[in-house]
Amino acid sequence: MTLHTDDLRKYENVKRLVVKVGSSTLSHPTGKLNINQMEKLVREVADLRNSGREVILVTSGAQGAGIGRLGLKCKPKTIPQKQAMAAIGQGLLMHMYEKLFSEYGIVVAQVLLTREDIMDRKRFLNARNALNALLQLEVIPIINENDTIAVEEIKFGDNDTLSALVASLAEAELLILLSDINGLYDTNPSVNKNAVLIPLVTEINEEVESQAGGSGSDLGTGGMVTKLQAAKVAMNSGFPMIIAHGKEEKVVTRLISGEQVGTLFLPKENRLHSKKRWIAFGSNLQGKIFIDEGAEKALVAEGKSLLPTGITGIEGEFDIGNTVSVCCGCREIGRGIVNYPSVDIDMIKGKKTKDIARLLGHKDYDEVIHRNNFVLSI
Ligand code: ADP
Repeated sequence: MTLHTDDLRKYENVKRLVVKVGSSTLSHPTGKLNINQMEKLVREVADLRNSGREVILVTSGAQGAGIGRLGLKCKPKTIPQKQAMAAIGQGLLMHMYEKLFSEYGIVVAQVLLTREDIMDRKRFLNARNALNALLQLEVIPIINENDTIAVEEIKFGDNDTLSALVASLAEAELLILLSDINGLYDTNPSVNKNAVLIPLVTEINEEVESQAGGSGSDLGTGGMVTKLQAAKVAMNSGFPMIIAHGKEEKVVTRLISGEQVGTLFLPKENRLHSKKRWIAFGSNLQGKIFIDEGAEKALVAEGKSLLPTGITGIEGEFDIGNTVSVCCGCREIGRGIVNYPSVDIDMIKGKKTKDIARLLGHKDYDEVIHRNNFVLSI
């Protein structure tokens, strides 16, 4: 079947969308903010809002604003220095957005997130409620990673992944990544001048992954690698993602009206529901459960729950309600939320369900992971 990309690009009816803009679009090569570019972006986003759409903006650029304010000649190299720049710049960045959006009568709100806000299911749901409340008030939430306090373990690391998780959390219908490049090319265009733009991606397989390189500029963070990670979240969550050039004239407006711009990543037909999306992409893995081939068949081919009998071993210490990786040998089969802590699983692994109560002195569940709390690897 030939896919006609024009038919796929019908976004006139999109009500809620996330627009992410990268540092390479918002900053000059000097590291300082590109104000002209910000003005153009704000104008387009304001118009989307005026057309009745709910828009969430995910923005980088805090470090750039900090560098500009202090008039630094070189970009900071160490993590504390970068965090300091982000702390100085975030306020300035928001001040600039506030000033520009208010010219169009639009109220904005700053939302700073760390990975922990997504990893913890309660905080995840709180964040969703807050975003919904802002959108109902016709406010534009402006989101950034909380760079000043985010250390490696709680970092998204790049706003590409953050924007896809936010879009998933907010049940958005479209995610637009504005970058310093027209879209995904078959090879890294900053290395190969003959690289060809790929207009449509329907599946992220090894071939597509091998085409993606890192960032071409020292302002960008993830390059295409993190944009493909974002695309995986989008495609499995059931909304399209588009990468387009942030400096192209009226790019968002043209794209919404159906013009073929950039690279479109098509959503899968069988989207994961909210809780499973959180298990797959949001939650923090606390350990591993190893299973035999019989259990793999039950989980993968038959869609069953994981019982103790198919478990051969565990790795790590985890508690009831934690998310673990389920592996057969060295392959990850999927991820799921456990009904028993690791100490208990160690005692019941390989045993029949009827033996659980005798071995543990209690039995709350037959399943170690219920199929409603399990998602196959993506
Ligand atoms: P942003 O700040 O917009 O997120 P990045 O620098 O992180 O920008 O990512 C965009 C860069 O990714 C491009 O400028 C390019 O140098 C690099 N890149 C690597 N591989 C590819 C590819 N296959 N197609 C397009 N760009 C690629």
